[in-house]
Amino acid sequence: MQRFASVALNLPLRREFTYGIPQAMRGRLELGSRVKVPFGKRTMIGVVVGLDAESEVPASKLKDIVSHFTEIPPLPACILEFTRLMAGEYACSWGSALEAALPGSLKRGASRTLPAVQLARDEEETRLHADEIEEKLAKQSRCLRAVLDLGSPVLVQDVLRRTGLSRSPIDTLVKKGWLAKLRLTQEDDFLEQSRLEHAPRHDLTEAQEGAVRKVLDALATPHPGTFLLHGVTGSGKTEVYLRILEEVHALGRGAIILVPEISLTPQTVGRFLSRFPDVAVLHSSLTDATRARQWLRLARGEVKIVVGARSALFAPIQDLGLIVVDEEHEQSFKQQNTPRYHARDMAVLRGRLAHAAVIMGSATPSLESWVRAKRGARPVTSADGKESSAKETYQLLELPLRAGAGRMPHIMAVDMRHEKPLRGRPRLLSHRLENLMAEKLRLGEQIILFLNRRGLAPVLFCNACGETIKCGHCDIPMTWHSGRGRLICHYCMEEMRRPELCPSCHVSPPVHIGSGTEKVEDQVKRRFPDAVVARMDSDTMTKRDSYEKVLGAFRKRDIDILIGTQMIAKGLDFPEVTLVGVISADIGLFLPDFRASERCFQLLSQVAGRAGRGEREGLVLFQTLCPEAEPVMRAVAGDYEGFVTSELEARRKLRYPPYARLIRIIVESPDSELAWRKITELAKPFRAACRSQEGGTADLAVLGPAPAPLARIRGRYRFHLVLKVFSQESFALLRPLFLDAADESGRNPKVLIDVDSVSML
Ligand code: ADP
Ligand code: ZN
Repeated sequence: MQRFASVALNLPLRREFTYGIPQAMRGRLELGSRVKVPFGKRTMIGVVVGLDAESEVPASKLKDIVSHFTEIPPLPACILEFTRLMAGEYACSWGSALEAALPGSLKRGASRTLPAVQLARDEEETRLHADEIEEKLAKQSRCLRAVLDLGSPVLVQDVLRRTGLSRSPIDTLVKKGWLAKLRLTQEDDFLEQSRLEHAPRHDLTEAQEGAVRKVLDALATPHPGTFLLHGVTGSGKTEVYLRILEEVHALGRGAIILVPEISLTPQTVGRFLSRFPDVAVLHSSLTDATRARQWLRLARGEVKIVVGARSALFAPIQDLGLIVVDEEHEQSFKQQNTPRYHARDMAVLRGRLAHAAVIMGSATPSLESWVRAKRGARPVTSADGKESSAKETYQLLELPLRAGAGRMPHIMAVDMRHEKPLRGRPRLLSHRLENLMAEKLRLGEQIILFLNRRGLAPVLFCNACGETIKCGHCDIPMTWHSGRGRLICHYCMEEMRRPELCPSCHVSPPVHIGSGTEKVEDQVKRRFPDAVVARMDSDTMTKRDSYEKVLGAFRKRDIDILIGTQMIAKGLDFPEVTLVGVISADIGLFLPDFRASERCFQLLSQVAGRAGRGEREGLVLFQTLCPEAEPVMRAVAGDYEGFVTSELEARRKLRYPPYARLIRIIVESPDSELAWRKITELAKPFRAACRSQEGGTADLAVLGPAPAPLARIRGRYRFHLVLKVFSQESFALLRPLFLDAADESGRNPKVLIDVDSVSML
């Protein structure tokens, strides 16, 4: 007899809560049901994770469940088990882990329509009004602008996301008669657009055939395991996924295809849809209503294949046969807020639980995956070289050549130190690049110019020799704190004053870098006034469909030159692009992060992969201040293995992942003093654990505490502590300590635990 339910709530408290089941609900609840429960003075929605006839707590002390969301099918047992294990791995509560498993609107209970607003008056009049009230009623003005920009009618949630404001200015505008409320069941045209795509079914190349065969053979065994599909850009990795998917589908089993958010375009999704018309798509730019519908179809077993971003890993699919993590090196697979899971690593766990095959695909695999795929490599080993569990070994599948017509592009580096400034300003386009652009334009071919803006960091570097100022201990660029006028290493806390001259070449004073896509656009337009130029970055791509519009125009060849950031680096397949120029190939190298080289190499290889995908040979030009830097040199040579070998050596020496696991503990508070006290206190048990191993080989290093590189966000001071753990055994040993630290999380100061952190900011 069901009398008590254990409920997981999305709270930082790592425990579940027991509630009484009211008479009318008894026998109806299932494990995985969504329920509303009282918690303190409020009510919360949680997931039933246990049902009992008995309770340790006297029934009189327990509160009852308020309601049960019967319209949502309960989460299947496989998801409950998966999230429970994941919570242990990332030191979060089961309830937080479950939070990742449900799409937005379903968390709040199913709603078929969503609140929206539309303009109640003429557009022009509204625009004038928005200008008029800009100063006095800034928030209302911003809301009106958002509605105008996003296009009326628009979902309220979109306006809030855009403006970062609360609902109250919208409500006021409704009262004043500028906006009108309505509800929308917005159907997305994303899926419709995807259906227009067409993916021809090719005869497999020998390499593709071999890869498909190995995975299919494994699928016939009880533990198919994990594969690393290392294939150069354009080698036809997607075709490999599709063929395996055909088999999995024929067996009546399900599949999850994870794609980084940024490359989850109608083009990518369309390739799957055109072969498997019944594919669900989970994507953050779909409306909540659509996502909920997609999720429900999966939960009811109406569809068994999903293509989606990170969170699609939690799709409620039973009898899963295959998980694909495409572009597995992408750091966007790591969620940056609670639960801070890494979808790449969790795919392995879910695959193991479901007896499914897992395929990681990339042209530039992460070092973590590479060492697992290389025989004899030891991912996380203790200092004495003991090997960690064999379960972590991946099988390597290689696609060394481009499939079909495309050939690998020809890549060259241009040394920007030899370029004369343009009217006293640094030149963004080298002579070499300008000449090549002129030639391609004459031939009517297309050009992509790429600027890595995410790589901009508060670091100082030298215009003369290209060196950044690095920490002598950590070999990581030091962060420039202009407020304090100091350079600080955020790994070890070393501080120094800004040197008068570059410490490497003693020629010129170190400067702060910064350059934007607009400036590039400006110089390009001035130099090539007749070319059609489009810019694509987060500033210009504000409307939902503007991204697709520009790409569509580029595909139709209405645009000659496309200038953009990360947005255009990945996965795009434009056969007519014959020249790719990278404005500053080395920008990302200056990030204060030990993975900077790896990311720089990956990005350059991906960008280069955009050229020469058609019949004509592609040309790639890297403009760089340090052509001799390892990632730049290796990317020019298209030498992944060479890069990985030297980078792994460096990681081994400095004991960074994959030779260690990083756990980052962050404390945040508006009160700097309080935050600092907390982080020093949290550091103590780890330091003690460190000391107790002295004399032997330390399996742990504690870095910091130190101010985080982003030392203050939204008025909250941030300090961090980085643990480097050198073996799985010590990781297991330390787990209780960081679980304890996780339990210290209150509102102020806030304690965040990031296991296997990919960002040091
Ligand atoms: P990747 O994902 O490895 O970068 P894609 O799967 O996008 O590569 O494939 C690149 C191009 O090659 C696509 O246009 C695809 O249709 C084509 N292609 C894939 N496999 C083959 C094949 N066996 N023969 C001919 N063309 C192929
Ligand atoms: Zn340092």
